[in-house]
Amino acid sequence: MEINGKTRVCGIIGNPVQHTQSPVIHNTLSTDMGINMVYVPFHVGQGQLEAAVKGAYGLNILGMNVTVPYKNAVIPFLAGIDPLAEKIGSVNTLVRTNEGYKGYNTDITGLMRAMKIDGIFIKDEEVIILGAGGVGRTAAFACAAYGASKVYLLNRSIDKAERVAAEVNTALGSAAHVIPKGLDSYKDLMEDGMRRYIVLQCTNIGMSPDIENVVITDEAFYRCVKLGYDLIYTPWETKFIKLVKANGGEAYNGLKMLLYQGIDAFELWNNCKVPEESIHKVYTMLQEKVKR
Ligand code: NAP
Repeated sequence: MEINGKTRVCGIIGNPVQHTQSPVIHNTLSTDMGINMVYVPFHVGQGQLEAAVKGAYGLNILGMNVTVPYKNAVIPFLAGIDPLAEKIGSVNTLVRTNEGYKGYNTDITGLMRAMKIDGIFIKDEEVIILGAGGVGRTAAFACAAYGASKVYLLNRSIDKAERVAAEVNTALGSAAHVIPKGLDSYKDLMEDGMRRYIVLQCTNIGMSPDIENVVITDEAFYRCVKLGYDLIYTPWETKFIKLVKANGGEAYNGLKMLLYQGIDAFELWNNCKVPEESIHKVYTMLQEKVKR
């Protein structure tokens, strides 16, 4: 792609940012769609966030992704915020407006879009979320917001599960049913032995190089899982995914969540709809990168 006087710049701010796969998504899309845009990582050190957002606006940067640890801290520096992002208190995408940047959360919309593509619909389902860290919180919010009948949020430290569940339930009001529990409480949830849960694996356990580990080792649990979604994508098939499949359930990894949070951001920045062929190209590129 030729970089010239009309090239627009987008990027990602975070600390650290060197492991991000987002440049693959956006630079492949802009090349494939003939959009004159480049996407670069920006490491933003502690105490530099406000200067980074103002500086980016001053430099006419079109949009940015925001990653750990700034998804909440960036909010005071925005000119506006989308209602979904405001409710969860987390922004991962900044879109340039005439007044400043407006914040969105495409982690949530991307997760739901990825699940829809895989034929998974949360509405009226009972969902178990394993892990209440950043991704577990996003998943709990998304499942509650998109109509799950119950969301059981299981975490090693129960106080974190309680805090996150309270935040989500307060943000969504009477529509939300997030129930916090300790990790061992999976035993209470499988008492009747029915295969009925959608389970989202949102802990770090099982990620490369720790590939033989899984957050719940008891095989009986997996007989109650009709569908498992591991948000990890390295390795391609985690122990969690293998256990779900071995016990008769369907299972997917988290690469499509990564893909669609990026597609949603790209569509917001460029006010466009990304064609299926381009999405397929990006997904293939990502697959090649993460499987290496
Ligand atoms: P995080 O905020 O650090 O949360 C980690 C979670 O894992 C916490 O719930 C933590 O429990 C739990 N955990 C860690 N070690 C554990 C252990 N030994 N036993 C039981 N629980 C343990 O991390 P995150 O940002 O949510 O990321 C979680 C995973 O999602 C990562 O593996 C990451 O690769 C993946 N991810 C995927 C995407 C995607 O687009 N697909 C995006 C971001 C992240 P405690 O609260 O008790 O410590």
